[in-house]
Amino acid sequence: MSKKLSRTTGVIRTQKRTEFAEHSEPMFLTSSFVFESAEHAASVFAREQEGFVYSRYTNPTVDLFTDRLALMEDAEAGIATASGMSALLAICMMHLNPGDHVLCSRDVFGTTRGLFGNLLSRFGIDTNFVPLCDADAWRERLSDRTRLLVLETPSNPLGDVADIALMAEIAHERDALLLIDNCFCTPALQQPLALGADLVMHSATKYLDGQGRCLGGAVLGSAELIAPLDDFLRVAGPALSPFNAWVMAKSLETLELRMQAHSRGALQVAEWLQEHPRVEQVHYVGLPTHPGHGLAKRQQSDFGGVLAFEIKSTLEDAWACMDRIKMLSITPNLGDTKTTIGHPASTTHARLSDDEKLESGIKPNLIRLAVGLEDPQDIIADLAQSLDDSD
Ligand SMILES: *Cc1c(COP(=O)(O)O)cnc(C)c1O
Repeated sequence: MSKKLSRTTGVIRTQKRTEFAEHSEPMFLTSSFVFESAEHAASVFAREQEGFVYSRYTNPTVDLFTDRLALMEDAEAGIATASGMSALLAICMMHLNPGDHVLCSRDVFGTTRGLFGNLLSRFGIDTNFVPLCDADAWRERLSDRTRLLVLETPSNPLGDVADIALMAEIAHERDALLLIDNCFCTPALQQPLALGADLVMHSATKYLDGQGRCLGGAVLGSAELIAPLDDFLRVAGPALSPFNAWVMAKSLETLELRMQAHSRGALQVAEWLQEHPRVEQVHYVGLPTHPGHGLAKRQQSDFGGVLAFEIKSTLEDAWACMDRIKMLSITPNLGDTKTTIGHPASTTHARLSDDEKLESGIKPNLIRLAVGLEDPQDIIADLAQSLDDSD
């Protein structure tokens, strides 16, 4: 075939068949690999010849996952890690040094905040947390020591949107790197590297797996920025298990379809919630009334599966509403076929002070939904009985 395959096809057809001519991809559950001779071993160890050595470094199934994800993110190179957090740690350990400064969005995953605020600060790396959408605040906080800018867009759980191209411009004014955590959109909906970001990271645990089974992470970017991360895997060891890699590589074949369905379902639920008399406000970036809608429309191909809503009441009522839910799962995970419901103020964002919660819009009556792949009418029916019962 002369025509370049589309991305949709490319992901499905990226595969290196073995001598057994299997149709589906095999899983290489092996910790090490065999050499033809002592000389062959020496030459692969010295990296004079390509070859697999040991699954802490590389593994064919893990490579399948990274190759497919790199294709989707339009990245030159990538690494896979045991979790999303170890993907972030790999970036920090290899691209930061003591004395460096980081700017991180205030509205990032709670543990990301903890990594910068509690752990890296002990190693001489200091971080300022900045409001996601306030580009001037990011510019003002930049210094000659700033090496890395970190953000998630759309944010969790309110769906605030940052202009990735603008943020890349700001980072590059000082030769800093822009890192986007692309967990919520996945490359099916947003490709940050094409918009100017230097690195993309994933918690593959979420939509890339998509069925709540495995932990995993990944980093994608230029070969130059990824090469040191390969070394990190070797010396620090947070390798992705080949089993998890197999699950996730197969899941990537359906990622685009799943993200479209998550987005469609979330929009239906958001539109229904918006009309409900017990609902004060709905935060879903797919609604034209959301402040980030226009920008998201330009830089994303759809709006994703996460939304939040405030019920007209207090914390006690928000909890009571959740307790009346029959089908949806009360669990912090997201990016699953099963819809999940959570109360950010007392779980994912519980560690923030009251002032920080207020700044980030995490009110006591806020409920988050990560819309799964059930029939949206059944999700709506469950919410309806739970909201209608409240007085
Ligand atoms: C879950 C999550 C992480 C952490 O990923 P793990 O796989 O749980 O380590 C990082 N960023 C975002 C946005 C997440 O949702």
